[in-house]
Amino acid sequence: MAGIEVTALHKRYPDGTVAVDHVDLSIGDGELFVMLGPSGCGKTTTLRAIAGLERQTTGDIRIGDTLVNDLPPAERDIAMVFQFYALYPHLRTRDNLAFPLRAEGLPKAEVRERVDEAARLMRLGPLMDRRPRRLSGGEQQRVALARALVRRPRAFLMDEPLTNLDAELRADMRTEIKHLQGELGTTMVYVTHDQVEAMSLGHRIAILNKGRVEQIGTPLEVYDRPASLFCAAFIGSPPMNLIDVEVADGKLRGQGGLVLTPPPGLPRDRGLVAGVRPEALEVTEPGAERSVPARVVSAEWLGDELIYVVDHGGRRDVRVRMPPTVRFAADAPVGLRHTGGTPAVYDVSTEELVA
Ligand code: ATP
Repeated sequence: MAGIEVTALHKRYPDGTVAVDHVDLSIGDGELFVMLGPSGCGKTTTLRAIAGLERQTTGDIRIGDTLVNDLPPAERDIAMVFQFYALYPHLRTRDNLAFPLRAEGLPKAEVRERVDEAARLMRLGPLMDRRPRRLSGGEQQRVALARALVRRPRAFLMDEPLTNLDAELRADMRTEIKHLQGELGTTMVYVTHDQVEAMSLGHRIAILNKGRVEQIGTPLEVYDRPASLFCAAFIGSPPMNLIDVEVADGKLRGQGGLVLTPPPGLPRDRGLVAGVRPEALEVTEPGAERSVPARVVSAEWLGDELIYVVDHGGRRDVRVRMPPTVRFAADAPVGLRHTGGTPAVYDVSTEELVA
């Protein structure tokens, strides 16, 4: 097993597109590391460079102690799982699993032992004699994962492996992958554009934007203290409210009079934006203590919660997450109150977290 070091990785395609712009990643041995970002941010290119499927323009990649820049994929000792299962259609599950091991020329007994172990880990017992067309999408993906397992690589690289599955299966497979990675303790780099997947799987998450790393942190760090306005808008559903604020009398004040507790060390000489999670706000009866006037624009009931959009301080898009029992009709005058902790505060011009 091995950690992965990516240093100043830069990829410029022949047409001039810069897909990866000086990315540094330090992935620990045994870590489940997620690369998250919108379409086109460079996650797949970074992963393919680690795998050796794409040659970087400049920069270094180390797997364990080995500088792998010049090694072909087969010599990097990694296994990659893609969005598409890519099983051999004419082979039964058992032979799909054994194929890469036979290709390596391993002795029969060892092939059998490894295939049996992967089948046990991915619970493929009843599926071992079926061909892919008699397997569901989820089963095919389990076989694809098992086929990566049998190789016992130093690291797994996963590129959106669950994208083609329905929501329920995706959630099940997510649990399965996390459990498996924990059990094997093999380093895993997992690419996704789905923040729920990233938050639930990752030990740490790297958020990429336009080929650059915007933030690396645990799911909690990334959620609580997004490092930039991009991360603040990208993580969380509904996203953080980004409210223009001023420092006055030791408080942070929004345009509509909403009062927030300032974090220590705020600069006073520049425009500031506070990031306030929807669950850190509360819709109240009008005139309630510490509340400021607002009006309900819409209320979306999601079963276990209500998402209010309210009109406050000249904007009609302030989002508030509430328990489903607190009911106010659209257009009702209400109060708006900040309930949770100190907000993250950003510099308007640099778009970066300042406190
Ligand atoms: P997605 O989630 O849509 O797969 P991604 O974050 O994985 O996106 P990449 O596939 O790494 O992004 O692509 C990063 C950028 O590089 C994009 O702007 C893409 O259009 C560009 N790109 C990718 N492959 C090539 C190529 N072969 N030639 C030119 N540009 C490319």
